[in-house]
Amino acid sequence: MPKTFTAQDFTARMARATETAAQAGLSGLVITPGPDLLYLTGYRPVAITERLTALVLTPGRPPTMIVPRLERPDAEGAPGAAALTLTDWTDGTDPYAAAGRLLDPNGRYGISDSSWAMHLLGLQEALPASSYRPLTRALPMLRAVKDADELERLAAAGAAADDAFRAILQVAFAGRRENEVAADLARLLTQYGHSQVDFTVVGSGPNGANPHHEAGERVIQPGDTVVLDFGGLKDGYGSDTTRTVHVGPDIPDEVRTVHEVVRRAQQQAFEAVRPGVACQEIDRVARAVITEAGYGDYFIHRTGHGIGLTTHEPPYMVEGEEQVLVPGMCFSIEPGIYLPGRFGVRIEDIVTVTENAGRRFNNTPHALATVS
Ligand code: ZN
Ligand code: ZN
Ligand code: ZN
Repeated sequence: MPKTFTAQDFTARMARATETAAQAGLSGLVITPGPDLLYLTGYRPVAITERLTALVLTPGRPPTMIVPRLERPDAEGAPGAAALTLTDWTDGTDPYAAAGRLLDPNGRYGISDSSWAMHLLGLQEALPASSYRPLTRALPMLRAVKDADELERLAAAGAAADDAFRAILQVAFAGRRENEVAADLARLLTQYGHSQVDFTVVGSGPNGANPHHEAGERVIQPGDTVVLDFGGLKDGYGSDTTRTVHVGPDIPDEVRTVHEVVRRAQQQAFEAVRPGVACQEIDRVARAVITEAGYGDYFIHRTGHGIGLTTHEPPYMVEGEEQVLVPGMCFSIEPGIYLPGRFGVRIEDIVTVTENAGRRFNNTPHALATVS
C-alpha cells in the first residue's frame, strides 16, 4: 500500500493552488465535489447531489469549505479536514447566499469543470458582478505534476493493467462476443487490484476503426485484428493502456505494416519526451511518422491525455497545446490508425516525464501478439 496523504500534504496542495490562482489573476478558486476537491482536501462526499458543497480558496485567507449541515460530520472526517475551516448551511436556507459571503462580490474565480450548472448559476445570481472560468482553462496544471507518492500509485496501476493484458492473451477470442472479452478484462483489472474499472474497449475487425467503440455483440472471428484499451483506478490513481492483437497466426501483410507504423509512431513520440518540449510536439512527432507512411488521414484522434485521479485530464498531447512538459507530468501516448469498415490499430502507454526523458508505466511488448 502506498502511504496515505496527510493534512500536511493537503495544506501544501491548497497553498500552491491558491498561489497559482493569484498568479493567474484570479480572486480565488471555487472547488466543488469531484477530482479537484479530492486532490485538495481528500474529501469525497458519499453522493454528489444538488446540495451545494464548495471549497473556497482565497489568497490571504484560510481555506474554507461550505457543506450542507447534515453532511458536516462526513466532511469533518475527511483526511484534509484539519487544514480547513468548515462552515455549513441548512436545508430551507439559500446555500448560494451563504457561499456568496465567502466570495468577493466583484471577484473573478476559477471553478471546477465538473461543478453543476445549477451551482454556478446560483452563485452568479447571488453575486451578479462575480465571474467564473473553468479550471481546465484557468489553471490547467493544477493536478498535472505528480509528486513521488502519486507517481508510485500511477506506476502500480500501470503494472496491474499490464498484468491484466498478459492474462487476457490466454483467454479464447474466436467465437466469443466482444462483451465477453470485455467482461474478462474488467474481472482481471479488479483481480489485479483495481477498485474501479473505467473502460474495457474490445474493438474487433471493423469495430477497431472507431477509437471510442466500447464493446458490443459482435462475435470475434479468426483473422480479426482486435484493439484492447482498458483502464480504471487503483488506490485512487488511473491506468490506461492499449494493445492490438490478432486472432490466429495468419496475419495479413497490411495489418503487419499498419501495426509497425503505429509502433514506430509510439516509440518516436516516447523518445521525444523530455522537460521543456511542448505537448503539441509529442503529437507532431507521432503524426509525422504516420503521415509519412501514407496513413495521416486515418489518425483521427489526438496523441494523448493526462492521467492521475481521473483517466482523462490535462495536459493534452494535441496540436495547439503549447504547455511544455515538466518532470512529474503523466500522460498517454496513443497513436492509432483507423481504417473505416476494416480494422484499427492503436498502441498506448502511460508515460511520465523524468529529469531528462520519459519513463513508461506500461511495459508489455509492443509487438503484434496473437490470440486464439
Ligand atoms: Zn479517446
Ligand atoms: Zn486508452
Ligand atoms: Zn488513453
